Amino acid sequence: MGKEQTIVAKFGGSSLADAGQFKKVKDILRRNPDRRYIVPSAPGKRDRSDEKVTDLLYECYGRASRKEEYRPVLDKIKARYQEIIDELELSVSLDKEFQMMEQAFISGAGEKYAASRGEYLNGILLAAFLGYEFVDAAEVIRFDRNGNFEDERTNFFLADRLVNIERAVIPGFYGADDAGNIHTFSRGGSDVTGALVARAVCADLYENWTDVSGFLLTDPGIVDHPKKIDIMTYSELRELSYRGATVLHEEAVFPVRREGISIHIRNTNHPEEKGTLICSRIDPEDEVPITGIAGKRNFVAVSIAKNRMNAQVGFCKRLLEAFDENHIVFEHMPSGIDTICVILPRDVYQEKREAVMASLERLLAPDKISVDEDMALVTVVGKGMRSVSGIAAKFFTALGEAGVNIKMIDMGSNEINCTVGVSNQDFEKAIRALYDALAV
Ligand code: ADP
Ligand code: ASP
Ligand code: MG
Repeated sequence: MGKEQTIVAKFGGSSLADAGQFKKVKDILRRNPDRRYIVPSAPGKRDRSDEKVTDLLYECYGRASRKEEYRPVLDKIKARYQEIIDELELSVSLDKEFQMMEQAFISGAGEKYAASRGEYLNGILLAAFLGYEFVDAAEVIRFDRNGNFEDERTNFFLADRLVNIERAVIPGFYGADDAGNIHTFSRGGSDVTGALVARAVCADLYENWTDVSGFLLTDPGIVDHPKKIDIMTYSELRELSYRGATVLHEEAVFPVRREGISIHIRNTNHPEEKGTLICSRIDPEDEVPITGIAGKRNFVAVSIAKNRMNAQVGFCKRLLEAFDENHIVFEHMPSGIDTICVILPRDVYQEKREAVMASLERLLAPDKISVDEDMALVTVVGKGMRSVSGIAAKFFTALGEAGVNIKMIDMGSNEINCTVGVSNQDFEKAIRALYDALAV
């Protein structure tokens, strides 16, 4: 018999969407008893037209706080859990939990509290079904009063709590501050909880079970049946998640990377498939020139023109100051001789437009500022972007032949990615063209 290991397994929303999915999860755990700490999401969609419980909770709370009729939505949420209880014949009642939850909604407990109930209730049911101990994330995942996540305290609390528990279910997505107020990570944040648990228990592996058989070369919603990536590094994962590949939350890599814990993406509906392994380094023979293609819509490019800006000492510093003083983090800053361009998310720009323009005028006295509000960013990630000759040529030829107009190019000298800005309407076309040209 092999040595005992500790595996943390996170199951996403569609993996736990109904009783049938709960049974698949139990089977997966039975097959390998090293899977000790389980992090569930809230029930997700059962089919394309279904609703996620988390979305229903936001809607229900929104209605309750606006004093609108919220009960039909609450009933839908209750029915989702009751169906699981009935079909699995669990001797658990959530009636009291729902009463408390409704009271809290009416008295304005906050949107984050509301959203967190999806994972909380699913965790209670899963723990009962598996016969594992339930550990409320509010006791171990720590935030400060302003909702900032506290990683070292969390690690301490989690490790301390789990050290004597052989098998536990810890719901994903939320935690609490010292006063007991609930806070959540951003959407998709159960991946982060899973990574935090993996770090705290010094896991041998962090398994992330979802509804695809691994990280695919690009979004399967855009390209039909893209190839699967067998293995990639944390850096490549970080690039792809940040650039828009939504498989894993972009913050989930940090807690496991620091401890060298590999992540294994697996498919709950096809556990026989190998999935994608993410680790610190990969053997040269496993390396491929292109790891993946990802992207996001809705960016804005703010271009600042000023004659001889290249010769002005401190120009860039003042440009950064204009964004800093408005608390804006931007994405890219491609530059020419007399122009420099800053790319930032459209919603951020629209919220802070006046203030940013005022700062730019005051600090830079530019000749002209022009704004392009229609930009999507598409990124190709892979070592080949800097080391295999000819890839860059294929990249630009593919976009040209597809009739995609490139508005911006950004490629650092030591990077493993190349990003282009295209118009939002060319977003999917650009991804398909790049996939066809580079994924062969
Ligand atoms: P979960 O609910 O299990 O956390 P998510 O919906 O967050 O699952 O992530 C899985 C989904 O990510 C897939 O169903 C797929 O539609 C989408 N996706 C986007 N880009 C990719 C990609 N490059 N590879 C695989 N899946 C992707
Ligand atoms: N349920 C949350 C969401 O829908 C968190 C998660 O699924 O990871 O965003
Ligand atoms: Mg997810």
